[in-house]
Amino acid sequence: MPESGGTAGRAEAALDAVSPERVRALLDHSCDILSLMDREGRLIYNSPAAQRLHGFAPEEMANRNTFDFFHPEDAPAVSAVFQSCLRQPGTPVRVEYRYACRDGSWIWMEAAAVNLLDHPSVQAIVVNSRDISERMKAQAALRASEQSADRILDTLPDILAVLDGQGRILKVNQAWRDSARAEGGPAAFPWAGTDYLDVCGRTIGLDAGQLPAMAEGLRSILRGEQAAFVLECPVSPEKGPRWFRIHLTRLQGAGSACLVASHLDISSLKAAEEQRLQLERILHRSQKMESLGSLAGGVAHEINNVLASILGMSSMHQEIQAPNTAAHHAFSIITKASIRGGGVVRRLLDFARQNLAESAPVDMNILVHEEILLLERTTLGQIRFASELDPDLHPILGDATALVHALMNLSLNAIDAMPQGGCLTFRTRNAPPDCVELDVEDTGTGMSREVMEKAMDPFFTTKPVGKGTGLGLSIVYSTVKAHQGTVELQSEPGQGTQVRLRFPAFLRAAAAPADPQTPAKTPAGGSLDILLVDDDELILATQAPVIECLGHRVSLARTGEQSLQLLQSGYLPQVVILDLNMPGMGGPATLSRLREALPGVPVILATGCVDAASEDLARAFSKVRLLAKPFSMKELETCLEGLLDARPS
Ligand code: ADP
Ligand code: MG
Repeated sequence: MPESGGTAGRAEAALDAVSPERVRALLDHSCDILSLMDREGRLIYNSPAAQRLHGFAPEEMANRNTFDFFHPEDAPAVSAVFQSCLRQPGTPVRVEYRYACRDGSWIWMEAAAVNLLDHPSVQAIVVNSRDISERMKAQAALRASEQSADRILDTLPDILAVLDGQGRILKVNQAWRDSARAEGGPAAFPWAGTDYLDVCGRTIGLDAGQLPAMAEGLRSILRGEQAAFVLECPVSPEKGPRWFRIHLTRLQGAGSACLVASHLDISSLKAAEEQRLQLERILHRSQKMESLGSLAGGVAHEINNVLASILGMSSMHQEIQAPNTAAHHAFSIITKASIRGGGVVRRLLDFARQNLAESAPVDMNILVHEEILLLERTTLGQIRFASELDPDLHPILGDATALVHALMNLSLNAIDAMPQGGCLTFRTRNAPPDCVELDVEDTGTGMSREVMEKAMDPFFTTKPVGKGTGLGLSIVYSTVKAHQGTVELQSEPGQGTQVRLRFPAFLRAAAAPADPQTPAKTPAGGSLDILLVDDDELILATQAPVIECLGHRVSLARTGEQSLQLLQSGYLPQVVILDLNMPGMGGPATLSRLREALPGVPVILATGCVDAASEDLARAFSKVRLLAKPFSMKELETCLEGLLDARPS
């Protein structure tokens, strides 16, 4: 039967394969050592591979105890394994150890032993051992390389963690440990094995609102959908809020390490960025205000002349017309309207003014004190006024009138914002470096972000027509700016408003300012020869009749040059009314030439913009008065009277 014949043939061949000769030859040439030993560990037999690996001849090993050859550091472990081998007959055990060689060196071996002491034909412990030096060397090299990778991680300044495929931390670097310790965490926290997102939320203090985004970023990287994920987020650990840039990067081919998380502290970058934006906002505002200022100044100047001529004419006709006539009524309305228009123009010019009318030491505490007294008299007790004034407050150098005006604007805004009553608080203090701060704080309606952004723009108002002009805060801004100061608004809807003004302190001993002399007022009379110098035809056409209406004679000049020609031709005016703002040689130069020619003749300087320059100019000469345009006939008359009273003393 071919089948059974085949089986018998294979069995015979198998028997042949383990013939004693063949077994002997295999033992002689095997790379592994086959040893037999008794229950004490005494060597009964070592195959020839033992001599090839250890160098000892069979007779040198005969009857030696195998424990004589183990490395002292490994002997205890080997002994424990040997004991367990004795306890479990038939069950193989394994162990790795260093074994002595004849030349005094050590060789790494791995052994598998089985207790066959009870086996009738073996009666020994059978050990199969082999040289694993190459493997151990490779493992040592791997360990060294891992250690060196760890050392590299530790030298990096970024805060790093390596994560596994489940988002658990495998290891963290020194920067991570240092930062955890700096935040008050435990010195040796066992980071390995903890859940990374959990650590971000609980230990690092990642904003709860950002955690879902982080979790999604982490998952998408672990799923292999993206290679990296970046998130900038605020964190609020024990020591105050900070910003981190968290960078998750996929790691491939690095065993169980799947992802590197890097945390970069960008708080100072964020702070610098915020500062830059703040500076940009300030610059933007100041550029806007500057251009609006020059626009407003130009428009105001033009409108001023128009108003001046309307007011001149109307006020004159108001005087001429019989009272209670329709014409008298009409002219008085026109006069009122142009006076109101003049008020708006003056505020515009206040806003447009870049410099101070006056520069003297000012005590802000006194201004605040007077402001409160005034407010208490004029509000009806609905509003409480409080002040916290630094008694050692430094003075500032500036224009008290303009500052009072600014304070009044702030107070009026605060009062408007507290229709149901509230508290208006003024605080002053010295602030580094060499600054004086004034806070004006109310408990009113507050402002939305949008309103606050526009609040200082000229003509921006949220108040009904007729109530708000939208110029209050712009004037405050330009006044403070002219004092080299800053204005800061802080407000939230329903939370009141705080306006902080900050000025450079005046630290030098204050010199007493010269007191302007006020001439005694006595009535002037008679008709005068008046020279009116103005480039604007409208002004000439309207002021000339006004002057005549006051009973004087008037001659006209359209430029400074023309006025001087008139004088050269022998004309001798008793008063000159001179426009400060003219083309050609202009007002100031004309004034000084006029003064040379007519040393004693009073001059009225008519100007739309009473500022430091015009006041200085008026002060520089005797018998020179400033008169703000537009002026009514009455104002001109009063001014003339004042000048003539102060004439020869
Ligand atoms: P006006 O008072 O004529 O409206 P301002 O320039 O003084 O012009 O103010 C502009 C706008 O800023 C106001 O209309 C108001 O909306 C807002 N504002 C100013 N100060 C305050 C304040 N203290 N509380 C609430 N809102 C204010
Ligand atoms: Mg206002």
